[in-house]
Amino acid sequence: EVSIFWFRRDLRLEDNVALYNALQSDQPVIPLFIFDTDILNSLPKNDARVGFIHESLSKINIKLNAIGSSILIKKGATTEVWGSLFQEFTISKVFFNKDYEPYAINRDLAISALAKANNTLCFSFKDQVIFEEKEITKSDGLPYTIYTPYKNKWLEKYKSIAPLVEYDTESYFSNFQKNNFDFPTLQQIGFEESNIKVQPHNLTQISNYHETRDFPAIDSTSYLSPHLRFGTVSIRKLVNWAVRKNDVFLSELIWREFFMQILFSFPKVVTHNFKSAYDGIQWRNNEEDFKRWCTGTTGYPMVDAGMRQLNATGYMHNRVRMVVASFLCKHLLINWQWGEAYFAEKLLDYDLSANVGNWQWAAGTGCDAAPYFRVFNPDIQLKKFDEKAIYIRKWIPEFDFGYGQPMIEHAFARDRAVATYKAGILK
Ligand code: FAD
Repeated sequence: EVSIFWFRRDLRLEDNVALYNALQSDQPVIPLFIFDTDILNSLPKNDARVGFIHESLSKINIKLNAIGSSILIKKGATTEVWGSLFQEFTISKVFFNKDYEPYAINRDLAISALAKANNTLCFSFKDQVIFEEKEITKSDGLPYTIYTPYKNKWLEKYKSIAPLVEYDTESYFSNFQKNNFDFPTLQQIGFEESNIKVQPHNLTQISNYHETRDFPAIDSTSYLSPHLRFGTVSIRKLVNWAVRKNDVFLSELIWREFFMQILFSFPKVVTHNFKSAYDGIQWRNNEEDFKRWCTGTTGYPMVDAGMRQLNATGYMHNRVRMVVASFLCKHLLINWQWGEAYFAEKLLDYDLSANVGNWQWAAGTGCDAAPYFRVFNPDIQLKKFDEKAIYIRKWIPEFDFGYGQPMIEHAFARDRAVATYKAGILK
């Protein structure tokens, strides 16, 4: 008999709640990862995120090999894979960390039902957030839809339990099953190396974060986002550290949880405006305009530099994400869902809750969103946040040679956006 610990978006051995609990179980633990074809089949063969997952698993496997164990890697539709795992092994318990996306919730319900039918117990744990689901609610028990009161309650609750416990899995490593499963290459999984790579995170400048974070030319943000997305760092460890370092940085980590609880409480936001009063906006959805936005050829340097950074690296600085998103929704009057889908394809840190939350924020259709009449002027944003055009020149080498003609005049676009929103918003 064995216990199985199922890795998903928690690709680390250290401070991993479900793994810690699995290692306390009575049976030897097999660590498992499934390359889920329901997700992978829609991705290009050189998707950099699959490469990052593979690399992270390989690092875990090397550590496991050192103690005579290894990770079991499977590929397929998850229910089918689990069906054959129940044939292959006598599994008494399954452990995994919770995932709050609608697809994952349904997947986990299906696997729990399958486990039950095989007389196997399933245990799920909170790991990727400090507070989940309905832990932070208003006094009437309803979810917060405004960030600041959510944050205040989050901080109050955090202080009552701080510092957060970090789970010492290492002391129980001897409970991993001794085994020697083959570790497949990326090619054997059906993917190829990408020339785009996840960068290591960098926490050296976080004490000045509140002063520097808005300037894309200064590499001062943490680059933690793909690591948080795939769980190669522990949020508990990070929060315990951030509390001592920088309040503004901590509040960004709370934004992450805010959008996660919005997605959990209002799953309709994936496909619908949070504010349904905005459903009547007549988007122009012009394909040619969209193409210019995607390729970074709008003639607005701040927008174009951002899109080129995204296309080349799978990353874009947050300030610039706000500018390009506002430009797409307001200047071009393209439905935020088009931009959200493009980001989902390109971002290494793509996370459904943060992406949908921030896109709806930019479009003005989300909870606690930017007001519809606030239309960023991309040139003023450039003057404010990249005055010497250092970031711009990095991504637009031709900038100094009389850079392009804006595809649309700002004042015209602003007035058109305000009028279109005004006409579309239901009273
Ligand atoms: P830092 O500034 O160092 O922040 C630290 C961490 O805080 C981030 O790694 C992230 O986990 C969290 N965080 C910071 N800002 C936000 C925010 N506004 N919302 C939620 N969490 C935040 N972030 C994603 O992780 N995935 C996405 O798919 C995503 N899509 C976005 C789409 C748009 C239109 C916009 C405006 C923002 C989006 N963000 C997304 C939020 C933010 O831009 C990135 O988290 C940040 O730029 C990542 O860089 P960093 O790790 O260096 O951030």
